[in-house]
Amino acid sequence: MCYERKENRNIDTILREISVEPKQQSLLRKLPGVDHVLDLWDKAQPLADVPRTLLVQSIRTTLDQLRTEILAGDELLDEAVFADSQLLNLVSQQVSKSMEFSLKRVINATGVVVHTNLGRSLLPESAVKRLVEVSSRYSNLEFDLERGVRGSRYSCVEDILCEISGAEAAMVVNNNAGAVFLSLDTLAKGREVIVSRGELVEIGGSFRIPDVMARSGASLVEVGTTNRTHLPDYEGAIRDETALLLKVHTSNFSMLGFTADVHLDDLVALGAKYHIPVMKDLGSGNFVDLSKYGLMKETTVQETVATGVDVVTFSGDKMLGGPQAGIIVGRKDVVESIKKNPINRALRIDKLTLAALEATLHLYRDEAEAMSAIPTLRMLTLSPRVIANKARRLRKRLNGLGNNRLEAVIIDSSSKVGGGALPLQELPTKCVGVMIERLSANAIERLMRSSAPPIIGHIENDVFIMDVRTVQDEEIGIIASAFTRILTEG
Ligand SMILES: *Cc1c(COP(=O)(O)O)cnc(C)c1O
Repeated sequence: MCYERKENRNIDTILREISVEPKQQSLLRKLPGVDHVLDLWDKAQPLADVPRTLLVQSIRTTLDQLRTEILAGDELLDEAVFADSQLLNLVSQQVSKSMEFSLKRVINATGVVVHTNLGRSLLPESAVKRLVEVSSRYSNLEFDLERGVRGSRYSCVEDILCEISGAEAAMVVNNNAGAVFLSLDTLAKGREVIVSRGELVEIGGSFRIPDVMARSGASLVEVGTTNRTHLPDYEGAIRDETALLLKVHTSNFSMLGFTADVHLDDLVALGAKYHIPVMKDLGSGNFVDLSKYGLMKETTVQETVATGVDVVTFSGDKMLGGPQAGIIVGRKDVVESIKKNPINRALRIDKLTLAALEATLHLYRDEAEAMSAIPTLRMLTLSPRVIANKARRLRKRLNGLGNNRLEAVIIDSSSKVGGGALPLQELPTKCVGVMIERLSANAIERLMRSSAPPIIGHIENDVFIMDVRTVQDEEIGIIASAFTRILTEG
């Protein structure tokens, strides 16, 4: 049942249509109209600087919410809520809520480092600085300063991408899904692409390789079986219509047991034999071999390029730790043809992204610098000592709030990389679990999620827990204040 924006309907008609208790009926009849509340507001705060439409909308929302609460039979609701001061208070809260930005900063206490729902990667400080600098002033975005003529949009990142990856050429688009689509559309439209059955993956947000392929106008030729694909499977499927051999990183899952997979080197050799280009969609690309830092081995972009593969695509904001972008590197003639595809214009990268991407790429010139300055890499490789310290600090702050209803404890757990990378990787971590007398874990989770800024943790064994790996140092104080607030309010 929805009575939104129908307050002008006769309340008696509504009451006749549904069965409501007499107490609810009487409350509904007393619910004031929008004009009445508007009048109250104007008398009480004649100087409040609130846009009229927003005020009216806030009053409507407040009254709608009250109506819903009454109909839901909320036991605690009585006529007191219709008191002028109480109504104005509710409207005022709603006004503040409407004036807030919808896209807001949150505290990620989930331990998932590249959390797709929470914005994936945090930009390095130098990238943020460049973003502000370039976006608040004019720039040479498409202007060749040496020759004084129109220049290329990607020129600022092309050279450095080639330098880091070892590729002949590079370009960037809006995101990796776009990079894959554009590459397929350029190289294989109206022709066939051979892919192993084990690599027909679905990435989050319903990006499915077969669907992207269909949209690009290429037809998919599946080879092998779900768990095993061999080189002769690819070779047997090659015919005149074959335009591309594609390998896709199975980012978000891993197959164990009786499996076989063709190495990219072997596929590249096969492509060379038949003069067919080979493409690798790396998904989350990484420039640093994180196995040196105790993580599982993941083939780097440089190693992928070194196989001689024609095109490689990867994301800017997964393990790379930069802004959202789709990076394409590879052989010069192939990348040039992708650049010329008219669809490129629809997927084009914007200048804010370019500024942040260039700054992030600069950090990769010095690995030690990249590991400390790029938040994604730093959080993935935090030492157990640093994590334990952070957890102890948070526990101490919470237990030190001086309220014996609350108890904070340290719990051993494991964090996840996220973003469709290293799905099997368990990163040992410390969480802080919080129990509060007379508040369930669910209630704590909800209250934390609605604080400002929202704090996102999760519930394990009926306890609200926060993984400190993804909590930034200065956020410990914010979390403590949020708990102070719920202890005083509830
Ligand atoms: C994540 C991913 C994509 C999509 O990349 P976006 O940057 O999210 O557009 C494509 N392919 C693979 C293998 C991925 O893991």
